[in-house]
Amino acid sequence: MEVTNNPSAVTVGPPEWFTGTAYMKSLKGPTEASRLVVGSVEFTPGARTFWHSHPHGQTLIVTEGTGLVGRRGGVIHQVSVGDVVVIEPGEEHWHGADSQNSMTHLHINEVDVNGTYATFCEPVSEAEYLASPLTQD
Ligand code: MN
Repeated sequence: MEVTNNPSAVTVGPPEWFTGTAYMKSLKGPTEASRLVVGSVEFTPGARTFWHSHPHGQTLIVTEGTGLVGRRGGVIHQVSVGDVVVIEPGEEHWHGADSQNSMTHLHINEVDVNGTYATFCEPVSEAEYLASPLTQD
């Protein structure tokens, strides 16, 4: 067992993954025994990921603020503290803050056997981002 307080420094999300400013923190990396990865991301208002997918899917747990989650071909969901978002393996999606508020989530996923965490596509356009949020598919 290992107990760590505040285990890693905050880094600014790279511009090839994010529109706007996001702050990333790794909480648990993959090991030889487990490919589980846990981290936290704080999105400032208007910030969001590019379109992307995860080889084994991803679970998001919103811990602060309000934000948005979209999937390719689907509607945009508004999310707030306590919401849990389960993303299927290979499902193209994005997540981020809404235009007015910050949003922080935990993310939980597995890297694949090659260590791949995610496959990134193009940015979420302003038109896609500003589409009216709905809460039902
Ligand atoms: Mn994701």
